[in-house]
Amino acid sequence: MLEDRLKEELIQIEKMGSLRQFRTISYLNDQFTINGKPMINLASNDYLGLGAREDLVEMFFKQELDQKLPTSAFGSTSSRLLTGNFEVMDQLEDLLKNTYHREAALVFNSGYHMNVGIISAIADKNTLVIADKLVHASMIDGLRLTNTRFERFRHNDIDGLERIVKRNIDSYDELIIMVESVYSMDGDVADLRELVNLKRRYFDKIILYVDEAHAAGVFGENGLGLSESVGVIQEIDILCATFGKAMAGMGGYIVTSQTIKDYLINRSRSLIFSTALPPIIYQWNKFIFQHIRSFNEERNALHMKAAKIRQLAKDRGFDMPSSSQIIPFIFGDNELALQASDYLNKEGYFCPAVRPPTVPQGTARLRLSLTASTDIANLEVAIDALSKFKKQ
Ligand code: PMP
Repeated sequence: MLEDRLKEELIQIEKMGSLRQFRTISYLNDQFTINGKPMINLASNDYLGLGAREDLVEMFFKQELDQKLPTSAFGSTSSRLLTGNFEVMDQLEDLLKNTYHREAALVFNSGYHMNVGIISAIADKNTLVIADKLVHASMIDGLRLTNTRFERFRHNDIDGLERIVKRNIDSYDELIIMVESVYSMDGDVADLRELVNLKRRYFDKIILYVDEAHAAGVFGENGLGLSESVGVIQEIDILCATFGKAMAGMGGYIVTSQTIKDYLINRSRSLIFSTALPPIIYQWNKFIFQHIRSFNEERNALHMKAAKIRQLAKDRGFDMPSSSQIIPFIFGDNELALQASDYLNKEGYFCPAVRPPTVPQGTARLRLSLTASTDIANLEVAIDALSKFKKQ
């Protein structure tokens, strides 16, 4: 019986200490509470702290909506290809393409929809995808959806990647290299310049696909991502990001060529077969993106706090792959990571343990992700205590 089998499996998951459950979050002003308890949130993707900014919400309603909501603001009621493509959607895509100085931009309902919907549409039997070992589940799901041929290379190992490229370059029409710019679990970064150099060595055969989900808004002079800070925006064929993290909105977006955009509109199933995001969400995304270059103070605060916490962790003997606001404290052992998380919880910090299969075996960790407004004043004491959970 289905119910019995599912119940049995849930019991097993609970026995392994891996049962997932929702927690109820709320903000009272900018006070974060979880299941009713005030906490300092060390697990947020709201990297610039915009999600809890009343001034921005107020400005949005005043400036953007003229205190009057358009009809159908909360429901587009259709796929963009039927009757769900509102003017604000075109406006947002124009803004994106003009800001990145690229031919075209396309918005998906989420970063997940985006990654699932792109590769499954554009790859055919003459395409090989070569993906970094640590790319996000949404990219892997996209590869699996249509049985795309793919290989993985060791995380950030460009020599290893090039070996795979050399081995396959003559057997395929194109090779798509998939990476993230800032990796979600280690907080380390891809060497985008080297990837661009590699692409140049094999000129028209390589397509670079870069997911900037954790970097958009956070890196770059104008907040356009790591590709902006290393000066390679124009070299990335499919540059992806999400509005759901630093921009405190919702939706995935890509900047790319007009041909790729047109093709995705015709073939990307996650775009075609789902109701478009509500116009009000597009309006918010547009509002935030219009201001993204102006959040330098928030970016600086975030980077300073992150540098401080990374240094504290290194001083306490933690290996530190990160050079971003995502800061892993790797304990290895699941139980130790859970104990460390419980300890932080008691001290008023919310930071759940991340365990396999979300991260590789033997690398269970706490993944701190800071925001520009995280109060780190007392974090030093807590981090001192974390070292006692390390394997001796
Ligand atoms: N790409 C990466 C690298 C991510 O980490 C995530 C979300 N964790 C996504 C895509 C999915 O984005 P969204 O939350 O907008 O669906």
